[in-house]
Amino acid sequence: MQVVYTGADWHEYWLRSIKSNKSIGLVPTMGALHEGHLDLVRKAKEESDIVVVSIFVNPTQFNNQEDFENYPNTLESDLDKLSNENVDFVFVPDTKTIYPEKPVININFGELERVLEGTFRPGHFNGVGIVVSKLFNLIRPHKAFFGQKDLQQTGIIKQLVKDLSMEVELIIVPTRREEDGLAMSSRNMRLSTEERNQSLILINSLMKAKQELLAGKQWFEVQNQIKCDFEEKPLASLEYFELIHPERFTRYSKFDENQKSSICVAAYLGKIRLIDNLPIIP
Ligand code: AMP
Repeated sequence: MQVVYTGADWHEYWLRSIKSNKSIGLVPTMGALHEGHLDLVRKAKEESDIVVVSIFVNPTQFNNQEDFENYPNTLESDLDKLSNENVDFVFVPDTKTIYPEKPVININFGELERVLEGTFRPGHFNGVGIVVSKLFNLIRPHKAFFGQKDLQQTGIIKQLVKDLSMEVELIIVPTRREEDGLAMSSRNMRLSTEERNQSLILINSLMKAKQELLAGKQWFEVQNQIKCDFEEKPLASLEYFELIHPERFTRYSKFDENQKSSICVAAYLGKIRLIDNLPIIP
């Protein structure tokens, strides 16, 4: 496994790969790797000849400085995990490599970002759009792998690729969960024991809402009940719990079993913000 730090370093390997007709798969990450990330890596191994994993904690997608400063950094163990998965290249750029200067452009995803994460994390998707574009331009992958856990992010990136005619195929990998159902996240390692216990309210409320919707209960009743459930957990604070179209990200006010739908949730456990989602009608 080769660790590369700059686009120029990678360029030589890229040329070699292209000359020998090898397909390149990219898995963008912010490090602190867990089994969810490794599922993406394994999928990338199946689907490409050469796998590049990038590790870069992108400052421009954090709208909360404290969250950025406390984001876990476990580079040594990340590299061990990736080496065990027989990854070919790990791209570990520093901030100056990705941002020699502050970008001037601003990517506005319109309607797509006027709900959910877009509302609660202003500027977040602009940062994601810019860093993903940069990674695609530097690494030039044929395929790129993203997790369904960040559902709205997958929608944003699909739009980016479509609108800018990028020649990269996107592959979305299902959410990997802990045994008790909590969606794996690098932020989970920052939860206290009590926060970790109460964090199960995210997946439990998604499953409860799904069951009730499918049993015929009205969405507004379900949503109100979930808000009350959150109020009973002293360490949990709900940001949103919405029923949406999983590609257009429009909010539904009613459940319709003839329309694609997912529920998305974001909540704080203490100071740690977690998100999750569950398809209701895929
Ligand atoms: P991050 O390091 O959090 O930026 O995530 C890097 C990639 O891994 C993104 O495409 C995420 O959606 C994906 N990912 C994060 N957590 C999970 C999970 N539990 N299951 C599947 N994919 C995930």
